[in-house]
Amino acid sequence: MSNRTVLHGIGVSAGTASGPVAVVTPAVGIDEHEPASVDPEADGERIRGVLQDVSASLSARAEHANSDASKAVLEATAALANDKGLIRGVDKELKKGAGATKAIHDAVEVYAAKLRKLGGYMAERVTDLYDIRDRATARLRGLPEPGIPDMAEPSVLVAHDLAPAETATLDQNLVLGIITEAGGATSHTAILAAQLGIPCAVQVKGIAEAIIDAPSVALDGGVGEVIVSPNESDVAELEERSRRRAAALAGSSGEGATRDGHKVKLLANIGTAEDAEKAAKLDLEGSGLFRSEFLFLDREAAPSVEEQAETYTRALRAFGDRRVVVRTLDAGADKPLSFADLGEEENPALGRRGLRLSQAREDLLTDQLEALAAAGQAVPDAELWVMAPMVATVEEANWFAERARAAGLAKVGVMVETPAAAIRARQVLEEVDFASIGTNDLSQYTMAADRMQGELAELLSPWQPAVPSMIRETCRGGEATGKSIGVCGEAGGDPLMALVLVGLGVKSLSMAPGKVRAVRAALRLHDFDTCRQMANFAVDARTAAGAREAVFNLADPVLKDLL
Ligand code: PEP
Ligand code: MG
Repeated sequence: MSNRTVLHGIGVSAGTASGPVAVVTPAVGIDEHEPASVDPEADGERIRGVLQDVSASLSARAEHANSDASKAVLEATAALANDKGLIRGVDKELKKGAGATKAIHDAVEVYAAKLRKLGGYMAERVTDLYDIRDRATARLRGLPEPGIPDMAEPSVLVAHDLAPAETATLDQNLVLGIITEAGGATSHTAILAAQLGIPCAVQVKGIAEAIIDAPSVALDGGVGEVIVSPNESDVAELEERSRRRAAALAGSSGEGATRDGHKVKLLANIGTAEDAEKAAKLDLEGSGLFRSEFLFLDREAAPSVEEQAETYTRALRAFGDRRVVVRTLDAGADKPLSFADLGEEENPALGRRGLRLSQAREDLLTDQLEALAAAGQAVPDAELWVMAPMVATVEEANWFAERARAAGLAKVGVMVETPAAAIRARQVLEEVDFASIGTNDLSQYTMAADRMQGELAELLSPWQPAVPSMIRETCRGGEATGKSIGVCGEAGGDPLMALVLVGLGVKSLSMAPGKVRAVRAALRLHDFDTCRQMANFAVDARTAAGAREAVFNLADPVLKDLL
């Protein structure tokens, strides 16, 4: 049995959990000791059987997928496992003398090269092909399949990292918490965990080794603390934290405001019409970010105007007269679109993504704006706002605003995600009605640190004083032009950072719906003047750690129960 060990990572989704460990198994490679095939026919039969089993188990998982998008991904992968071309390739490798696991690896590589050449949607299937290869290899070697294990009882998932597709298929009734060794606070996996309301810590170094033979693990997803093989008093302490958190949250309801009544709209980040319907039932004031690209990903062709209009109408209906801010298509970089492939780029995060992709494929934006306008007309009470991602210049803001207004949309804005837009906010805002700061990308571009790189987590922290400085500049632009500035990146869902943002002049905060209660409770504990002082401390600090500490020291003691 392993010893009690305390580890620290980054808390990305608050809440506590303790229970048995379910390890997400890494992929195993070729069996280096396997002999060459002496009976290619028999080996071929065996591999065929294994591929059929892999296909059947993926189909079974598709049945339980928690969204239409992940169901479609799993079904497509299941079909690919039975692909005749793949099986023919395996037979060919076996005849050349490869052993079973080598035959499947080599056949997959040949097949993957063909798909890559075809480009677009076909090229994207390569990831699915590798998934099939890894599952089949594990079965051939009699080892557990890679990925999320079937859980017999509610457990805490421990993984090196989780792909967004894996996170999207998690059974919320069985996954008590998530701990990863890699990953970053603004990776899409962390965002999805928070969206699902599952306590989660990332960047927990040493967790893989520490949990070997560990019967259980405890997690505080707020502060990022993990206790491997916790003792009774650890579990009692976590339960006490959970109780204190519940007490601090009690009575958190109604409009967002500081203790002295300075109003701050508290909004939900959503990705689908279902998200909208779920979030709208909660006590919050609308949606400050509808990541509309989720409607476009994993598809062979763009959704039609009618389909889009139906989705947006559903979202608007769900929120009634509450505000819904729809971000137009933000694809490219880590969210490629098979039907809008602009070719390979050396640095996709600095390439034609976000609004730049819309400029290259104006037809996609035109359809989307038409669909949004139709949804706005279908729900006349709705407060529909529309904004563009990744804006860097006045010309881009103007280009977008002209098209959105021509489509009949009344409230048009931009996201501030680049330092260029932040420090020139006044000029950019002169073109539009509002701005919303995407702190995930603004941190990435301010610090020149890839948000997908968990190793750069420290640089990516919104507490890096350069980030609040950028936000201050944006808010100054907002004050000069009388336009409203919101935040819709992950920073807005951190109760301590939220106070700084409000002090900097931000008028609305949009976050994973499950985070709203804690942020509202944090605001109620503090006066606006305190928030302003916190903002000064954050901007004036010399280091990220110094900024957080200075702000924390100024906060009401109850705030720590909300983190
Ligand atoms: C952001 O960058 O902060 C943001 C809200 O957009 P996304 O995370 O979808 O890039
Ligand atoms: Mg962004």
